[in-house]
Order: sequence, then C-alpha cells, then structure tokens
Amino acid sequence: MTLNAEMALQAEQIPALGAIIQGAELVIPDGAGVVLYLRLKGERSQRCPGIELAASLLAKAGELGGDYPVVFYGGAVGVAATAAAKWQEKYPGLAIAAIQHGYLTPEDTPDFLEQLALIQPKIVLVGLGVPRQELWIAQHRHLCPQAIWIGVGGSFDIWAGVKTRAPSWLRDNNLEWLYRLYQEPWRWKRMLALPKFALRALISKN
Ligand code: UDP
Repeated sequence: MTLNAEMALQAEQIPALGAIIQGAELVIPDGAGVVLYLRLKGERSQRCPGIELAASLLAKAGELGGDYPVVFYGGAVGVAATAAAKWQEKYPGLAIAAIQHGYLTPEDTPDFLEQLALIQPKIVLVGLGVPRQELWIAQHRHLCPQAIWIGVGGSFDIWAGVKTRAPSWLRDNNLEWLYRLYQEPWRWKRMLALPKFALRALISKN
C-alpha cells in the first residue's frame, strides 16, 4: 500500500479500504501528509512515492528477467501498453506477461482474471485510482498468491508520457501535491485532504 493523506481519510468513509490498509503486508508513506504524521509521532520517515517503488521493482524484475513476469493493468486504452513498451526498451530482459487497460467490461473481466491465474506473475501493477485499485487487488490477489500487488494510481500515465511529474525541487520539498494542483486544478476538492489530514496530525500530537 502506498499511503497518502487522501487515502487515509477515505478509509474513514470506506471501512473496507481501512481494513485493506490494516491488513497490507507493507504500507509505505507515499504522501507528504503521512510523512508529517510519522515525524510528529517521532518516527524517522522519508517519503517513498508509489511510482518510485514500482519503478524500483520493475528495474529489479528487468534484471531477473523471465523469472519475474510482470503485469500492467489500468489506465485509458493504450496507456499501459505505451508505458510497458518504454520499460521494455529500458530493460530488454523484463518479462511483461500481460498488459490490460483499466476500462474492462464486466463481460471481459473473467478472461483477464483467468489469464492472471494462468500466468502467475510475480508483480501486478494496478493503476485504477484510489480506492478502486485497492479494492480490486483485495478481491483478486488470491489468484496469484506469490505476486507483489501494488496500486500505482496514475503511474502508467506518467511512464507513457500522458502526464508529467513535478520537477525534482518540488518533489524534494514535499510539494508534489502543489504541482498536481497546478496540472489538474479540478482536483482541488480532493486535495483538501492534505491540509485536513495535516491539521488532524498536528492536533493528535497534542
Ligand atoms: N482508471 C482506470 N479505470 C477506471 C478509472 C480510472 O484505469 O475505471 C485509471 C485512469 O485512467 C488513471 C488512473 O486510473 O490512469 C487514476 O489516476 P489518478 O492519478 O487519478 O490516481 P490516484 O490519484 O487516484 O492515485
């Protein structure tokens, strides 16, 4: 799980999401708000954006080749395929076992699930947005018990070049959210989660 403020607050409204976070094997601080919370609690913490964790996993899988098949699932039609092609170019040894866009019809879903069970990938990257991807993973991860399943949000869009990430000076100062707001201003309501979460973190400290 790549936890950020928005997800943590959503978990209050969606108990299933809360249970998934609680039951995850690994929860990393994806967002600035979670890092602030952990630091206020006296934990040494550093932001680890999900996109970077996923990229590290792909780099390792690229080294391990056929022993580490990966699946790209999510995004608009063609986006995961473009992202996969870029990764394949970078790591020719990377075994990309399946690519699936994120707008499957209910009729097409069983075929994809069957394919997953057959392939038994070692990494399944799911980019459907929060909380859809977390709920989907929780529902289907039993199909490939050996795999690392990770919700990657809009990472395929970034890798495919459909969207861009904040410049590193913003990322390094925990300000990636500001760039996101600039790039996608219609998200402002969703992004109120960050100050709301930060405020609650500060209050809970006292
Ligand atoms: N998406 C998808 N299927 C859906 C809804 C969304 O594949 O039914 C994709 C969408 O195309 C985008 C990603 O999910 O690539 C969500 O990206 P966003 O940056 O909003 O992720 P979040 O901020 O929720 O992590």
